[in-house]
Amino acid sequence: MNQKPLIYMILGIRPDIIRASIIIKYLRQSKKINFKLIWSGQHYSKNLKDTFFKELKLPKPDVELNCSGEDNLFISKYFKKLDSLLSKNRPKLVIFLGDTNTTSGSMCVANHNIPIFHIEGCMRSYNWKMPEEKYRTITDHLSDFIYVYLHNYRYQGKLEGIPNYRMKVVGNPIVEVITKILSKINRNKKNINDLLFKYKVSYKKYILMTAHRRENVEISQNLKNIFKLCNLYDEKIIFAASYRTQKNIQKFKIKIPKNVLIIDPIGYVEFLTLLNNSFLTLTDSGTVVEEACIIKIPSVQIRESTERPEVYIWKSSVKFDPRNNKSLYLKNVYKKSIKLKNMKWKHNFGDGSSSKKIATDIINKVKNNDLNIRNKLINNFMKKNYINDLIK
Ligand code: UDP
Repeated sequence: MNQKPLIYMILGIRPDIIRASIIIKYLRQSKKINFKLIWSGQHYSKNLKDTFFKELKLPKPDVELNCSGEDNLFISKYFKKLDSLLSKNRPKLVIFLGDTNTTSGSMCVANHNIPIFHIEGCMRSYNWKMPEEKYRTITDHLSDFIYVYLHNYRYQGKLEGIPNYRMKVVGNPIVEVITKILSKINRNKKNINDLLFKYKVSYKKYILMTAHRRENVEISQNLKNIFKLCNLYDEKIIFAASYRTQKNIQKFKIKIPKNVLIIDPIGYVEFLTLLNNSFLTLTDSGTVVEEACIIKIPSVQIRESTERPEVYIWKSSVKFDPRNNKSLYLKNVYKKSIKLKNMKWKHNFGDGSSSKKIATDIINKVKNNDLNIRNKLINNFMKKNYINDLIK
């Protein structure tokens, strides 16, 4: 019988698996824990899921919950399946990462009184309309312990009443993931040239684009405005468009500018190769904006609001609010984005040791049975009789 403590990590979308890939390797290697990866099923197609497990050299998930669909439909199916998994196996700890529907499972885990750790906590866009803002806030407040990437994120947590002892600043694990994959990519110049040839583009003479957020692609005018901006560039734009975006382009009967090439989502190696050789990226992706900043590619962040404002402060990115289609505004965004070419920024995402720090801390906390952090501290608080003092 396996006596090692059972630890679950629950993920469900492409960027989760990318960002967590090295953390998972450390946790799987550990002899002190019995680690299992649970896949909720939010992303399920080969090119949004399986390709990434393969490219990042990760074994397939241990459990597939096979849940998909929009928010509430997804959650209703997901909670039922997750509930029975938790009742059957009673893991010692459940780890979530990020801000997707999948992290809403923290409510289900909390109902079992199982400790929760949250990686990528306390990021805030302060835009409550964004589904991600609700998911990350709820998950942070249900968590026993939160790994935050930057000091300002911890401060945001503090502003919401989360005490310091429940947060640890660890840096952003995407730094080591991208560094590792890119160093492999750059060893094979022929593959790089072949890829540029395939897309008929030359080094630093094209733009790579992604857009998938609901507020950008579900509103016809916003999606049209994104293409209006594209129209201002002379360069070819390779647009790796999500299936939702492609469907809406058809639905809204949008005319695609001549310089835009729409392609299906591509694998990580292909995407990073294209990103690293482009001169600019237009994106509404949180992860791509970080990756571009790290590898010194300027970006236009297609967002009304962002939980990653530091890329504006470091001057690696300019903001494009797709609700605004005034021609002067569009020209201004265009001009600012071209000027970014000359910027020399320094990022502060981390030194490449974040994954190791997170995994080591988790393993130590499991070993020391230091998981039920909220309860332990509440008990200490009660022992000190503050409450009794208050009601005297
Ligand atoms: N990505 C990819 N292929 C694509 C588009 C993106 O491999 O066709 C990668 C990209 O490098 C980044 C992640 O997927 O690591 C971003 O995913 P997404 O934009 O869906 O999520 P977000 O970061 O907005 O949560």
